[in-house]
Amino acid sequence: MTNLNTDLGFPTQRLQADVLVVGGGTAGTMAGIKAKQANPDSDVLILEKANIRRSGAIAMGMDGVNTAVIPGNSTPEQYVREITIANDGIVNQKAVYETGRLGFEVIQELESWGVKFQKDPDGNYDLKQVHRVGKYVLPMPEGKDLKKILTRQVKRHGVKVTNRVMATRVIVQNGRATGVVGFDVRSGDFVVIQAKAVILCTGACGRLGLPASGYLYGTYENPTNAGDGYAMAYHAGAEMTNIECFQINPLIKDYNGPACAYVASPFGAYTANAEGHRFINCDYWSGQMMLDIYKELNSGNGPVHLKMYHLDDDTIAKIESILWANERPSRGRFHEGRGENYRTHGVEMNISEIGLCSGHSASGVWVNERAETTVPGLYAAGDMASVPHNYMIGAFVYGRIAGENAVDYLQSLDHLEPDPDFLAAEQTRIYAPLTQPNGIPHTQVEYKLRRLVNDYLQPPKSPHKMEIGLEKFVAYADTLTAMGARDPHELMRCNEVSFIRDCAEMAARASLYRKETRWGLYHYRLDYPDRNDAEWFCHVNLKRTESGEMELFKRPVEPYIVDVDLKREVYDVAVR
Ligand SMILES: Cc1cc2nc3c(=O)[nH]c(=O)nc-3n(C[C@H](O)[C@H](O)[C@H](O)COP(=O)(O)OP(=O)(O)OC[C@H]3O[C@@H](n4cnc5c(N)ncnc54)[C@H](O)[C@@H]3O)c2cc1C
Repeated sequence: MTNLNTDLGFPTQRLQADVLVVGGGTAGTMAGIKAKQANPDSDVLILEKANIRRSGAIAMGMDGVNTAVIPGNSTPEQYVREITIANDGIVNQKAVYETGRLGFEVIQELESWGVKFQKDPDGNYDLKQVHRVGKYVLPMPEGKDLKKILTRQVKRHGVKVTNRVMATRVIVQNGRATGVVGFDVRSGDFVVIQAKAVILCTGACGRLGLPASGYLYGTYENPTNAGDGYAMAYHAGAEMTNIECFQINPLIKDYNGPACAYVASPFGAYTANAEGHRFINCDYWSGQMMLDIYKELNSGNGPVHLKMYHLDDDTIAKIESILWANERPSRGRFHEGRGENYRTHGVEMNISEIGLCSGHSASGVWVNERAETTVPGLYAAGDMASVPHNYMIGAFVYGRIAGENAVDYLQSLDHLEPDPDFLAAEQTRIYAPLTQPNGIPHTQVEYKLRRLVNDYLQPPKSPHKMEIGLEKFVAYADTLTAMGARDPHELMRCNEVSFIRDCAEMAARASLYRKETRWGLYHYRLDYPDRNDAEWFCHVNLKRTESGEMELFKRPVEPYIVDVDLKREVYDVAVR
């Protein structure tokens, strides 16, 4: 085996675990805990690129649960119907059902650990009706320490944690996942971990498009989530699905966080155009809603804003106390710095950069209702797994499902010794930027790549532009080889850029393959502006073939378990 890392002065660390969870965010912490609960004798390890105490999308807590199915307020069947409609019918209902079925148990368990959800004076969960049908939004005004509470439970359950190690590839032997390789982003050590089951929980691909601000890490998504899990699953041979169904979100202009209409609307706030009128016809967070916002922004009625100035002072103070303390606590300082006041002006909104994420849309690694990918022993949960509109509770639910099923799966399995040739090749690939410290800085390579994503993939999608984009993303593999890193931190960034390139290529190919428009703005094709159920009522899946090609194919939608008439039940609340 070539000892490139040793030549560079970095030793190799070897670790073993029964269950290896990659990514210690929302789904990953729950996966670790649940695997350990399922079998306290199992050796469970969470690998985290940052530090699990404050990592991932809920690093600074969360101000509410988007999808709480709580008895007396909604049912799992009703939830499945809502998500089926919001996702234009392209769902595996059995997988969506699990989020509705298990979400309440997850909420109760979180509460028993000390997480606080809003209750009414009678002690009932104080759900808010944000959508036309169903009550799903459960506020968490005191949700800022969510991640600290989860970390405490991880420790209490005896789950091991290795922070500051970035996974780069899943090891696949005899057709099953048998571990992961990566490196320590502080010391630079090469890390090889043998495992009997691997659960990928690395979050969204949040650094695909470049935000309008131009800042590389000023993304809606947590910027450590660069699509690592998408790329690792793809290289492991797993099927990916709905990759053309991008994630796009309404944001506060120039600020990398949502305006939070979900939080503010139960208090009477709403999204309005420049004339102060409501304009959103679709009330569910979906591509259709983004299309409404996109059209308004590009009409004479923009810009759009979150309107609160018609509310009384106490109500606005209450909204501020939630929005400025949780999730994105810098929000208050941002407004203050700009001299903006919710009492006098609307919060100007824009739409975000594109990304891949099942949590908010549907793009992810294909998983079934057992959180299994198509590679035996490889599980996925959270924003990178394909269960649509799963958000935070879905990440917890699927972390739980993955943890429990992984423990079940591995019972009769032994560890396999990794193939030395594979390790050598991976070492060479990972460490290459350190061998040329004066190569092109990762910031420049990433900036250009993501500009190309904006130029050629941002909806509305044009076929010719996407073809050009695809050509450039493929050719960009050569540009990556010119990147240089001076230390392990920069090496992490370089490896992230390679993941982003993989995701850009997948996004271009999947978008070109689906020749229709679906999911509102998420897959709005100028050359095929209509939905075409006759040919495209299916998932578009892709995978890496043995010879390394990206193969695309249709996967039929599983038979529904809950009846939905998609012709009749469209979201169009026509509020103007
Ligand atoms: C701004 C924002 C607001 C939101 N608001 C709400 C809301 O109000 N209500 C709601 O229900 N949901 C909300 N969500 C969605 C919800 O937070 C996410 O769906 C959920 O937290 C995703 O969990 P996850 O485990 O998939 O990802 P994360 O929690 O982000 O965890 C991913 C982890 O993987 C680690 N990682 C990444 N790559 C690697 C690698 N190569 N090696 C090792 N570790 C790696 C990351 O550091 C991170 O810790 C919001 C999300 C965002 C971004």
